Amino acid sequence: MIQGKNFIRGEFVEKKGESFEKRNPANIDELLGVFPHSDQNDIEKAVEAARLAYPQWRALSRIGRGEYLDNLVQILKRDKEELSVLVAKEQGKNITEARAEVTEGIHMFQYQFGLSRMPFGEVVSSEIEEKDSFMRRKPKGVIGVITPWNFPFAIPTWLIGPSLLEGNTVVFKPSKETPCVAQKLVEAFKEVGIPPGVINMLHGSGERVGTLLVRHPKIVVVLFTGSAEVGQQIRRVSAEIPDKMCACEMGGKNAVIVLDDADMELAVNASIISAFKTSGQRCTAASRLIVHKDVVKEFQKRFVEVAKRITIGDTLDPDNFAGPVINETQMNKILRYNELAKEEGAEVLLDGGRLKGPQYAKGYFLSPFVYRMEPNPKSVVLKEEVFGPHVAIIPVKDLEQALEVHNDTEYGLVVSVITEDCRKAREIRERCEYGLGYVNLPTIGAEVHLPFGGVKKSGTGLPSASTLIDVVTHRTAWTVNHAREIKMAQGLKVKL
Ligand code: NAD
Repeated sequence: MIQGKNFIRGEFVEKKGESFEKRNPANIDELLGVFPHSDQNDIEKAVEAARLAYPQWRALSRIGRGEYLDNLVQILKRDKEELSVLVAKEQGKNITEARAEVTEGIHMFQYQFGLSRMPFGEVVSSEIEEKDSFMRRKPKGVIGVITPWNFPFAIPTWLIGPSLLEGNTVVFKPSKETPCVAQKLVEAFKEVGIPPGVINMLHGSGERVGTLLVRHPKIVVVLFTGSAEVGQQIRRVSAEIPDKMCACEMGGKNAVIVLDDADMELAVNASIISAFKTSGQRCTAASRLIVHKDVVKEFQKRFVEVAKRITIGDTLDPDNFAGPVINETQMNKILRYNELAKEEGAEVLLDGGRLKGPQYAKGYFLSPFVYRMEPNPKSVVLKEEVFGPHVAIIPVKDLEQALEVHNDTEYGLVVSVITEDCRKAREIRERCEYGLGYVNLPTIGAEVHLPFGGVKKSGTGLPSASTLIDVVTHRTAWTVNHAREIKMAQGLKVKL
């Protein structure tokens, strides 16, 4: 059982007063930890610690900062299995996925360490031969990092790693649903001796701690990953505060498009993985399978057969496919969407719901809900993010209609197309609205060295992962004259 604490100025801080519990969503009798609710005073202390640590941290060489991340990697590798078990217990994903998540987080720190010896600016030509011009990057200051529960280890590393490498300091607020993994990550930072104040962590709710952090005038950048509703709120608040920017990664209504020439086995397997891994609780999960009418009958038969076979249960049994959903609220929300699909005229192919039986009695276990629905611009279930094991098969008459149906949502995060025809794949690539695209693959499985971020309601046009450097640094122009006299660009002559 973890006795949760905030981490401020290099120390875990005792806090009396209000607290909250974290329980295992697969077995609510298992208490994993108790954590403090932070308040305004804690926020002031954490932001001040980050502000005071900033000048010395940015004065270190980029390589010096990278070396802290390399040392961190050694600790995370040593503790990988312990961390993976904690991810599985706290978040509810299967241990095989939890291990992959911890690997992904380690990859991000390895990638940042590698980048520390790579160029991070540009030499730019000038009209004047004797002038040397550069694009140089400067850190921005104190960054607020606010993360969701579905990737409690990887997402914080994706946001904290680049922020620290580039010389910023961080105040991190993890989701209230996954405070245990966050605490372990910060313990590893302490163990490598990261200078006090460079990273600080505050537990608590989004409504209170998150809101106060976003509004804090000394937080210059907010890096947020979570729902579109909260992201839009953060964008509005940030816009009103001078010198504050935010980069938000939000939800998706992703799709696999199966064309008439698709390899059917690949199409079914990619769709199953996209729809049901992590019980559909990935921002990249697909809740729409847009299938060409000529192959929809075969696809639907085979998809439902496999969906019936997937095993849901004990998160520590590597033979299981998926675990529970995160909590009761989320479970009820998914069940409501299942009902709404029926009300909107869905032909139910697999009527998923709460799993019954002694092995499921103490957790939030849901079986897959699969339905067929004709394209319908008025349908809510075909447009809104469900974030659970809930998927629609939507038949379309051709590629044109597939494109139209794909883009008929306010989100634009991931598309995958299953086809053997490179020309059709190119049409999808050019005309669908998305941030991450795949051919003959599931919609899940991003890697750290690519951009990660959606369009429309899914993002703010500032992708994360390899391109987060553009958010956490300010690009400056620096020009040096090597001539004895002043020579101006654009042919400007000055008589003095
Ligand atoms: P959420 O928006 O409810 O919460 C995310 C974080 O924001 C949490 O730490 C929460 O405490 C905090 N928060 C809540 N209200 C806040 C407020 N008013 N001000 C500041 N912070 C606040 O999301 P969630 O339920 O934790 O996560 C699921 C959502 O995250 C899904 O929509 C999913 O698609 C999305 N997600 C997106 C990505 C991506 O990269 N695009 C990745 C993972 C998850």
